[in-house]
Amino acid sequence: MGRYLGSSCKHCRREGMKLMLKGARCETAKCPVEKKQRNLAPGMHGWRRGRNSEYAVRLREKQKVKRYYGLFERQFMRYFHKAERIKGNTGETLLQLLERRLDNVVYKLNYAASRKAARQLIAHGHIYINGRKVNVSDYTIKIGDKITVKGAPKSLKRIKEQLDTNPNFTTQAWLQLVRERPEATVVALPTRDDVQIPVEEQLVVEFCSR
Ligand code: SF4
Repeated sequence: MGRYLGSSCKHCRREGMKLMLKGARCETAKCPVEKKQRNLAPGMHGWRRGRNSEYAVRLREKQKVKRYYGLFERQFMRYFHKAERIKGNTGETLLQLLERRLDNVVYKLNYAASRKAARQLIAHGHIYINGRKVNVSDYTIKIGDKITVKGAPKSLKRIKEQLDTNPNFTTQAWLQLVRERPEATVVALPTRDDVQIPVEEQLVVEFCSR
């Protein structure tokens, strides 16, 4: 699968909000969204935001979610079609499926500073699920899954250093983390409230079903 090599900050500037794509840098004053003069849409005419059509509003909501989870269009639409096939509210199901991605879970456990860093950690074979190595970021976690780190000192050191960057960090209720090992268990499925990005999922559904 390819990966996006362009500027992550561009995505935040386009959406006009912090998508937290760069880890620690996002919390500093260096974040372009914090700087008033630079919080413009990217490109030569970024200052010309203009009035948004109904189509544009829906498109922005979809792009926001897609970029927040670091997906390409085809991957995103795959999740949307999967959500459509599941009984219930499609928008909420879509967000739940995205939250259950392994790269998101690794990020939410603070094993990595960003989803991008989490993907690298997974691809390099540092993450194990139920005792087996999983090196694909789109693995969908289930209740009862145990997420551990490869026993190698290098892997453990890397994760522990990251956990130490925020000693007061607490996980969301659906994840149970034992910092000392480190080891985590999925005790429930994420709910709509666990999604930290402000998004109107109904607009995403309307855009994708048009
Ligand atoms: Fe860049 Fe992070 Fe700020 Fe987004 S939130 S603009 S990724 S520094």
